[in-house]
Amino acid sequence: MATISSEQQQAVAGAQSDGNAVQSCAIIVVIDPGHGDRLKAKNPVDPGAVSGTIYESNIALDVGKKLKSKLEAKTDCIKAVYLTREGEITDVLPRLKWRVAIAKEKKANIFISLHLDAAGASASGQSALYHPSYAHSKTLASTVAGRAKIVKSRGAKSRDNLYVINLKYFGPETKASILIELGFITNDADRTACMNQGDAIAQEIADSVADFVIANKSIFSATPAKAATQTPANVPIPRPRPTNR
Ligand SMILES: [Zn+2]
Repeated sequence: MATISSEQQQAVAGAQSDGNAVQSCAIIVVIDPGHGDRLKAKNPVDPGAVSGTIYESNIALDVGKKLKSKLEAKTDCIKAVYLTREGEITDVLPRLKWRVAIAKEKKANIFISLHLDAAGASASGQSALYHPSYAHSKTLASTVAGRAKIVKSRGAKSRDNLYVINLKYFGPETKASILIELGFITNDADRTACMNQGDAIAQEIADSVADFVIANKSIFSATPAKAATQTPANVPIPRPRPTNR
């Protein structure tokens, strides 16, 4: 067997990561506006948290649509963006599972669920939730939390009991899933910001997603086995030693 020098190994590794960089420019994002679905035939459509006549489901949908267009403008790193819903869902669907089924169908690399918190009137701020088992989700949540200014950030927070951020329910291509609580619907300033500055809030999130994708290209690249079949032209190929036969 011929051996490969450490120099050659480094050259191969470098060339493979360059090759992967090209593939990283094709990220698929699925945005999931929370609630707005019907869980039982007799139920009304789920509004989520309510403040007067204002529904969490509608704010999440509005910001979700804005986030879709902001992400679609990131043509250097985003290939496609889908919403799990574009209005109210009146069909009866299995709770939460239908949302993750769309992520699987679209082969989402990143899944972002949008919600609003509810509590007493003094509680305020945006939170980015991730499942503690998934490091890339934590990184994405931290990136989102680091940029949030319009609704001040409460930080990235670990939650192990939320279905839509547990990657074990997703396909292998989904590398990060977070749930953003955009603000508190029960807080006047947060609710007003989410309703009137949704465009700027969506821009903050889209910029964070793009930063995350660019800083973590390698996690979205082809599997190592597939990458290894690409032989860079400028790297000497180790040849098997001739046999005596
Ligand atoms: Zn919610």
